[in-house]
Amino acid sequence: MELRPYQQETVSELINFWLLNNLNAGLCVLPTASGKTVVFAEFIREALLIKPETKVLILGHTQEIVEQNAEKLITVWPEANVGIYCAGLKRKEIKQVTSASRDSIIKEIGEFADWDIVIVDEAHLISPELTTRYQFIISTIQLHGKKPFLLGFTATPFRTKSGNIYGDDDNQLFKKLIYQKRIDELQSTGYLCPLRAVVTDFKAVVDTSKVRRTEQDFVQTELQAVTAIESVVTGIVQDWLNKTNASLPTVFYASSVQQAEIFADVLKIFGFDFPLITAKTEKTLRKQWLNDFEVGEQNGLINVATLTTGWDAPRLSCIVMARPTLSPGLFLQILGRGLRLHKSKSETLLLDYGENIQRFGVIERIGPIMESRFYHDEKSLIIVCPTCETIASVYQLECDACTETLRHEDDVSVCYECNSPNDRYAKYCEVCGVALEENMGFYQ
Ligand SMILES: [Zn+2]
Ligand SMILES: [Zn+2]
Repeated sequence: MELRPYQQETVSELINFWLLNNLNAGLCVLPTASGKTVVFAEFIREALLIKPETKVLILGHTQEIVEQNAEKLITVWPEANVGIYCAGLKRKEIKQVTSASRDSIIKEIGEFADWDIVIVDEAHLISPELTTRYQFIISTIQLHGKKPFLLGFTATPFRTKSGNIYGDDDNQLFKKLIYQKRIDELQSTGYLCPLRAVVTDFKAVVDTSKVRRTEQDFVQTELQAVTAIESVVTGIVQDWLNKTNASLPTVFYASSVQQAEIFADVLKIFGFDFPLITAKTEKTLRKQWLNDFEVGEQNGLINVATLTTGWDAPRLSCIVMARPTLSPGLFLQILGRGLRLHKSKSETLLLDYGENIQRFGVIERIGPIMESRFYHDEKSLIIVCPTCETIASVYQLECDACTETLRHEDDVSVCYECNSPNDRYAKYCEVCGVALEENMGFYQ
């Protein structure tokens, strides 16, 4: 398998960290569509080449993920000798590389505690309440005399309220960000598709100011009450038609099953018979619909949050985000579906009717909602290009779409590491996270 330069670079960084570092848990962040699987598989392959005795445990928390992890590994590395350990799949194979269900193996981890590397893919899915299960697995392995290296992979290293999913904190499973490739880096080198958000019809954007919030997101029933309304959905469909003329392969992300059903009905009135995929959709039917979309026999799909982590659709050229969310991870997972390259498109259009871009920023700057993102100069994260209505970061100097000047260079602080413009007083670069030392003085 031929690796792209940044994939090889990532594998080398992970191998070095594993060999040289005393920290025994770290996270690797790679954007959706950057080939995380390839990196993951190649890391295991190289680790086994360097230390042939190495035993690798890959943890998943659902049957589907356990199966996928094993399949992915074999796709990239056909000679891999992978076992599957999962009660639900009626398989209990312990091999040198084992893809296991967390909840199956945790019961017998004392018996099978001989692991050097423990890998968790989609590490953002580990809720704070469940980190203890992973900690239990790791500490049991340690009790049996091994010092396992815990390696997490994710495209979205944060949660709604608690911020990053790595750090020194005792509650954090991953102590360090080992390596990260950013979306904007891979877009500018041509490995990921650019995403362009344009202003949507304000009449179609729902008002969520009165919807109550939990730690994770809006209160679902209240959100449904303001979004699952025919006039709201009609406004969105009308705006989508005006902007795309229905020419772009589109996925509609609804707020609830009820709103998704209204989408299906309204689209039908406009002459589009798009399938609605929910968690309950039968597996073979779902596969058929996704395939129809991919080969171009179908130009639209409706779902709630089914088509997120783990779903690939290179042909997707327009994302209709009808769901307001407080989760930057969910938003980024959805946008990630539009990052894959495809010969039929040069960009993916984003139509956001949930004020999510206002809340989290443009794609390369998406992060938890934090006061510290607002400095002296700006109270908004975005700006709209007056010429072409493309949405840009409030610090962006020039519109990506039409090169209109948006800001003057003297108004911003350009990052020495990644060249991204930031607030003049920003302490950290909003895109790559490095400390902007020249600005530190303002805070003394
Ligand atoms: Zn423009
Ligand atoms: Zn930077």
